[in-house]
This record gives sequence, C-alpha cells and structure tokens, in this order.
Amino acid sequence: MKAYDVIIIGAGIAGLSQALALTQVGFSVALVDHCQAPSAWQTAAAWDNRVFALTPASATLYHDLNVWPLLLKRRITQYQHMHLWWPGFIDRALVLNATDAAVSELGHIVEQNVLRDALWQQLSHTPLSAYWGQAWQALTHTDAGSTLRLADGQVLQAALIIAADGAHSAVRNYVANTELAFSHQACAMVATLNSEQRHQSIARQVFHTTGTLALLPLANPHVSSLVWSVPVAKAEALQRLSGSAFAKSVSLAVDHVLGELSLESKPQCFPLQALCADTFVMPGLAFIADAAHVIHPLAGLGLNLGLADVACLTGQLLKAKRLKRPLGHLSTLKPYGRRRKVAAMHMITLMCLLEKSGRLSAKCPNILSNLVNSCLGTKNLFKTSMTTIALRALNP
Ligand SMILES: Cc1cc2nc3c(=O)[nH]c(=O)nc-3n(C[C@H](O)[C@H](O)[C@H](O)COP(=O)(O)OP(=O)(O)OC[C@H]3O[C@@H](n4cnc5c(N)ncnc54)[C@H](O)[C@@H]3O)c2cc1C
Repeated sequence: MKAYDVIIIGAGIAGLSQALALTQVGFSVALVDHCQAPSAWQTAAAWDNRVFALTPASATLYHDLNVWPLLLKRRITQYQHMHLWWPGFIDRALVLNATDAAVSELGHIVEQNVLRDALWQQLSHTPLSAYWGQAWQALTHTDAGSTLRLADGQVLQAALIIAADGAHSAVRNYVANTELAFSHQACAMVATLNSEQRHQSIARQVFHTTGTLALLPLANPHVSSLVWSVPVAKAEALQRLSGSAFAKSVSLAVDHVLGELSLESKPQCFPLQALCADTFVMPGLAFIADAAHVIHPLAGLGLNLGLADVACLTGQLLKAKRLKRPLGHLSTLKPYGRRRKVAAMHMITLMCLLEKSGRLSAKCPNILSNLVNSCLGTKNLFKTSMTTIALRALNP
C-alpha cells in the first residue's frame, strides 16, 4: 500500500492546480485520473475552443505557483475593456475599463490546453505521483485516514482525499453527497472565430432575450472565442448550420461588431446546469471546483470559483500542518467547507439573477440603455461602480 498526505481524484485544471499548490509547500500528493496524461502543447497548436477568463485573483494564484511565466511564453491575452450591450444598441454599449476601478486589467483569456500544459510542466518539477489512465473502484474515508482502491488492484492511502473529478463527480455519488442541481434548459455553443476587424483586446458581451453571447479576445488580434448561451432547441438548430451560416448567425447576433466572421474550428455544445453539493467536506474527504459546484458560464467565473477553493483549502491544510493537526479531521476541513459553500451559493444565486435580468433587460433595451447613458453622461460614478461590482464578483 502506498501512502501520501493527500490523494487528488481528477486531473482537470482544478485538480492539477491543487496538486501543484500542495506539492510546492511540501505535501506528498498522488493524482489519479481515468484519462491519459495530456500531450505537450505545441506553439502552432490549433486554437482550443475551451477558454477561461481568468480573474486577477486567479492570476495571483498562478503567479504564486510560478505558472504565470509559462502562460506568458505560450498564449494568453490581457483585456482592459469590456463592452456590454443589448442587440441593436451597440452604439450605446456600456464600456467597463480597468482604469475606472484603478486596476491594470480586468482579466486574461487563456485556452484550456495551454493552461493544462503549463500546470503539467510545472508539476514535472515536483515529486508528484501521477496515476494516469486509472479508474478507481472503492474509497473509504475517515477522520484518521482514507484509502482508494484502483481498478488495477493498487491501494493508495492518505490523510485526505480531494475530489476534483468535475461536475459529474463519481466520488460525490459514491459517498452519497447529494446535490442541489437544476438544468438551465440551455446550452453554451463554443467556437473559435476569425474576424475581419481586430478585436482590440476587448471582451464583448451582448444580452439577448434567449441568452448571452460573449466574444473573448485571443492572442491573434483577428481571432476570438465564442461562448453563446442559447435554449436547447436553438443550439440544435445552430449545430445543423453550415460553417458559413453559423458564422453569419454569430455576426448578426453581435451587431457585426467585428465585421465579417468565419469559423476557425467546429462549434461544440455544452449543456448548462447549476449545482451545489450538499457538503464540501466529510471526514477524510473534501470536494473542490466543479465536483462541489457548477455555475452558469455567462460571467466566466466557474473555474475562478474553483481556484479560490484551491487557495482556501491549501491555506487550511498548511495551517493544520503547522499546528500538527490531522489533515483529514473535520475540525481541519470545516472552515474550508463553510467558507467555500457560502461563496458558491452566493455565486450560483448571482449568476441566476444575472442570467434572468440580462434576458429580461433585452426586452426593453431602450429604457435601460437610456438610463445607462444618462448616468454615464452626468458622471462616471455609475460606470465606476459597475466596474467595481464586476471586479468584486471576479474575486469569488
Ligand atoms: C461553455 C463554458 C465556458 C466556461 N468559461 C469559463 C470561463 O471563462 N472562466 C471560468 O472560470 N470558468 C468557465 N467555465 C467553467 C469551467 O469550465 C469549469 O468550472 C472548470 O473547467 C472545472 O474544472 P474541474 O477541474 O473542476 O473539472 P473538469 O475540467 O471536468 O475535470 C475533471 C477531471 O476529473 C477526471 N475524472 C472524472 N471522473 C473521474 C473518475 N471517475 N476517476 C478519475 N478521474 C475522473 C476527468 O478526466 C477530468 O480530468 C466555463 C464552462 C463552460 C461550460
């Protein structure tokens, strides 16, 4: 039987980040994933349809973990401006600037495969034990220690198991940690698009009655990433379109803001749900990121919320180590569980409100944009508070 301080199940971005955070401060860690290890990212790699808007708080975490220089060497885009508008009212877009909130940027856009590769490269300098392509069969968890039996018969032991196995967490099901979950009856269409005009490193979002559409700037000034929330039936119809017809639909939906668009990659569709696990901690077991909570992607905060879990749990485990307290004891884990569940519930509620109000406001954009404009016309106070609210939401 091999023994570790911590076993992490799931090597998505959250699991890799948690593994790096813990190994860098001296914990022995085993990382288990049923998929194979990620292949190395190549400079000329095709654009990944899956991108993340990283908040300043997540950037700080990656600076601390020495991942940031690797992201800069690969591909990452800083954005200082955000344009928000209702269809047909692009000339009255609400413009949020980093300078309005006295920060240097609103965020960064990074592709999933770029971030995964940077994390994995950084992990290769640590004594991490990785178990790739390994399904697990059984799990026990107590205050005094936990075990994981792998499909090939190996048994791993640790003071704590961290479930980072995503929205459909098998660990959550296995230990009967029920969840509050509902479907948004909508899907997110994602794709990479070429544009006639430069995106100028501006993140753009338009609020339709059917859902929101975001165009996020990538490292090439003529390439953007699309995240378009639409009802299921519309998603099905969009998937049946030819590439050029799909790009035309996007172009129309964004009021031709970047001129003509063409598809760089095949669109993909992700069903949207909201989910919060009943508890984020049990004796010898903790849940992080999508295994604990899933939110609507309209504000691009899901992973950021998960990275805040990583930072919080790492701090809690370090404190326990310093005080020589058992890592898997509920007294160690409960402060993490309480704090992060409150943050997740808060964010789920906020995203539901934003999603509904964005769609409702699209029904009367004239009134709203007039209001926004008159506020902006009189003083920058409204804009400044919107930016501050946005940034506060960005520190989940
Ligand atoms: C369209 C869309 C756009 C988004 N945009 C943003 C954004 O801009 N910013 C942002 O912060 N968030 C965004 N999100 C949310 C973000 O994608 C998720 O929060 C994040 O990817 C979750 O990462 P994770 O590591 O928790 O889970 P996952 O990425 O799902 O990783 C789970 C890992 O666990 C492994 N696994 C699963 N089951 C098992 C098992 N039984 N045994 C072993 N291993 C297992 C999987 O192989 C995988 O490696 C978006 C989401 C969507 C749908």
